[in-house]
Amino acid sequence: MRIARFSIDGNVAFGVVEGDKQDELVLDIIKGIPYGVDFELSGVKVPLSKVRLLPPVIGNKIVAFGRNYASHAKELGNEVPEAPFAFFKPSTAMIASGDDIQYPSFSEDLHHEAELAVVIGRMCREVPRERVKDVIFGYTCANDVTARDVQKREKQWARAKGFDTSCPLGPWVETDLDLARAGDLTIQCTVNGEQRQLGRTSEMTHPIEDLVVNISEAMTLLPGDVILTGTPAGVGPLHVGDEVAVTIEGIGTLTNKVVKRG
Ligand code: ZN
Repeated sequence: MRIARFSIDGNVAFGVVEGDKQDELVLDIIKGIPYGVDFELSGVKVPLSKVRLLPPVIGNKIVAFGRNYASHAKELGNEVPEAPFAFFKPSTAMIASGDDIQYPSFSEDLHHEAELAVVIGRMCREVPRERVKDVIFGYTCANDVTARDVQKREKQWARAKGFDTSCPLGPWVETDLDLARAGDLTIQCTVNGEQRQLGRTSEMTHPIEDLVVNISEAMTLLPGDVILTGTPAGVGPLHVGDEVAVTIEGIGTLTNKVVKRG
């Protein structure tokens, strides 16, 4: 099931996306918030083309893992970390598919990083490996937009990876993928239609289970929290006017335009 979050006429709701053709998709509005419960559908339907998509989660935190694909660690001259290695992006960095990425004023080298995002469905802590599947709500596409020059210059990545609009997420959360399937999907990034990144989630050094075990060992995860799982090789520059798209097999395509910060 594909679950989107959206606004229409000033109201915000979640809905189940129905249909196959992009221009004929319809949302069946969900009653309440769908995390960790058997939610009810209202039966009220609106065309997707009539709503504004919002980031598909109400997130408390975004935990991102660095250098989790050997091919990407190497292309930037970094070692592949032996243990998973996490950093934060603030919830204020989130934008939806269709929203603009604002080029930060303090960078001259903005990069795309296509990533599979895991969405947590229930409050959890110290999750054992075999229970990881029970705490995952679903999966969506993410772009871990990075000011690469700032990342190199500053020890902590709060500014380089945490500026407003640095975390496009969407277009919706796919809840029907099991862990085995989520761990073996094609992930792709294009800029202005030209392919920049192409990989498979099976190339992760530390698979999804290990990432959830690693972070939940340290902190409580809440429904709607997001875990970014690293990016395959091919990261590269974004310029004002570019259209960047992250496509993950079985989930969908997240598209954003880069604009000058106004
Ligand atoms: Zn990343």
